[in-house]
Amino acid sequence: MVDPAEIRSAFHNFVGDERYRKFVSMVPLATDGTRLRFWQEHAWESFTAEHPQFTLDFAGIVELFRICHLHGNPLTQRLVPVQHGCVDFAPEYWQTRNEFHPCSPLPFISTEGRDIAETELPIWFCAECEQIELSRQRQT
Ligand SMILES: [Zn+2]
Repeated sequence: MVDPAEIRSAFHNFVGDERYRKFVSMVPLATDGTRLRFWQEHAWESFTAEHPQFTLDFAGIVELFRICHLHGNPLTQRLVPVQHGCVDFAPEYWQTRNEFHPCSPLPFISTEGRDIAETELPIWFCAECEQIELSRQRQT
């Protein structure tokens, strides 16, 4: 069994800092994703061509990179309520979020027109991002 941290670190070295963060941030955090973006697949295939011992299927890649792209922590799962309708957060919120706590948990999932029967759904979040968001909220 290969150490996940070893694979991540080898991949990080292979693609470089910027692409690595982008790659990790775009690995689907929800369970409904079925494949990576084309450029991600390409990056992963080039990597495993040189490191065939690290070959993984989609599920394996998602599990490996279910980490915060800012802090590197493994993400935790939590159930949040499903809210029907569309919810718009202020653009400033997304700006702050992307910069300081990209993986903090949203308080709910909005259906955005999708037909979702569940009243609660699991989300993935970074505990460190959550702490940062909470302490920023206390300051304002
Ligand atoms: Zn984080």
